[in-house]
Amino acid sequence: MSVIKPVRGTHDLIGEEAKRHDHVIEISKRIFSLYGFQEWMTPVFEYTNVFSRSLGETSDIVSKEMYSFQDRGGDSLTLRPEGTAGICRALVTNGLTQSLPQKIFYSGPMFRYERPQKGRYRQFHQIGAELMGVSTPFADAEVIAMGYHILKELGLDEGAVLELNTLGDKNSRSIWREALVNYFKSVQAQLSKDSLVRLEKNPLRILDSKDVNDRMLLAQAPLLHEYLTKDALEFWDKLRKALDQFKIPFKENPYIVRGLDYYSHTVFEFVTEKLGAQGTLLAGGRYEGLVGDMGGGDVPSIGWAAGVERLALLLENPPIKTNPVVIIPFSEDHHSVAFPLLQAIRYNGMGAEIAYKGNLRKQLERAHKSKALLALLIGDNEVNQNNVQVKDLISGTQREVSLTEIVSYLKNKLAN
Ligand code: ATP
Ligand code: MG
Repeated sequence: MSVIKPVRGTHDLIGEEAKRHDHVIEISKRIFSLYGFQEWMTPVFEYTNVFSRSLGETSDIVSKEMYSFQDRGGDSLTLRPEGTAGICRALVTNGLTQSLPQKIFYSGPMFRYERPQKGRYRQFHQIGAELMGVSTPFADAEVIAMGYHILKELGLDEGAVLELNTLGDKNSRSIWREALVNYFKSVQAQLSKDSLVRLEKNPLRILDSKDVNDRMLLAQAPLLHEYLTKDALEFWDKLRKALDQFKIPFKENPYIVRGLDYYSHTVFEFVTEKLGAQGTLLAGGRYEGLVGDMGGGDVPSIGWAAGVERLALLLENPPIKTNPVVIIPFSEDHHSVAFPLLQAIRYNGMGAEIAYKGNLRKQLERAHKSKALLALLIGDNEVNQNNVQVKDLISGTQREVSLTEIVSYLKNKLAN
């Protein structure tokens, strides 16, 4: 038999890792709901053109990272590399473009063919949010504030910096684009091969280049900020003022362009120095034409996505969740009391587990180790007298409690 192994760049979430992951998602969902965002669950695969059109043919994701395949019916499908395109598709195909605004969040696996390393996988998970159908910069500030709130709640706000930029509106970008193209043409001989292609197809993408030489040339390139139209400037001013009012600290960074084609006005990233080259924790921006590209008319929107694995890697103390009660029947003969009691405790909303293996000493050891608070011991005497021995695993004390009172006794005890 050939050796069985996991697919490169995938990872199993087990034990401690699963707990960290879970914690990130649980906290995020709670915060999303405080802001009135509702969960949408879209499929993990879509027709390939849902992504290729909207993300841009020259984006890194579409040009080299997508898991695309032909299904048995001959359709080209793609495992979703990100969440926004699917949400926009869902808005259109569910006929919701007339029911705006929509406040949406999502959570789930994404797939990109990348070089795996710490904080970078081929199947990873994102949480993300989209506020669709609102064009004011105040919405951008609030959506960014929601991302900040999640980082704060996870204890990660101090280690992350919000870097903010504007890509202006279409008019700003088209004048700037001309200036950029002229500049890059003047230094064409020094550009990397990839960027030469970008110069032809999508010059703005050169700003995304990771090539060292390209980056040096970029330092001299004309900045969009010099070409912002009056409208774009006003948007940018209002955004920054609103962020101040929301009390979200930020740093302006004119080099943030994000990897995708669809952004305009606001773009931002929460960045940490603790994960090397995988420093972007949560990132997003404003987009206008995406829903329009899918036939839904223009829906101005703002959104972001965060990598769950990257957030989970940074968590200091993942919370330990243990069940407070362990039931220890001495033998099978005592199940007649143990099983109904076990269920009664659970039906009353308290966590309880039962020990199946080992002698009493071993089982108590295990109960201690699991950080349970109380052990309920059930032997012949208890079955005959309709009671249980309750052992307090912290103080070591033990007392008898009758079966009729045990549930309310536990409720009381565990409430304190
Ligand atoms: P990077 O620059 O690190 O490649 P990106 O710009 O491709 O990130 P986005 O497409 O904006 O990232 O996705 C949002 C978030 O999803 C990222 O900030 C990151 O936290 C996470 N992420 C993206 N790609 C991966 C991956 N391959 N593995 C794990 N997390 C990822
Ligand atoms: Mg990437």
